[in-house]
Amino acid sequence: MLSGNEKHLNLRAFTNSQKHTLYEGQKGICNQCEESFNTDQMEADHITPWSEGGKTELENGQVLCRECNRRKSNH
Ligand SMILES: [Zn+2]
Repeated sequence: MLSGNEKHLNLRAFTNSQKHTLYEGQKGICNQCEESFNTDQMEADHITPWSEGGKTELENGQVLCRECNRRKSNH
């Protein structure tokens, strides 16, 4: 599912391949609730938020399950 907007979005969103690398590195375990999930149940997240100057790179990335990621954004 490639779109013409992808390059632009990549500036602040992790790519699928970055997400997979993070997922593999965490062995499928959510960093918040420490349960294991399938890759499609997880989302790549900035450890230091983009809005606070966090970069979109692997060193600043983690995968969280959707629920934890949503909870974090509402926080
Ligand atoms: Zn979780």
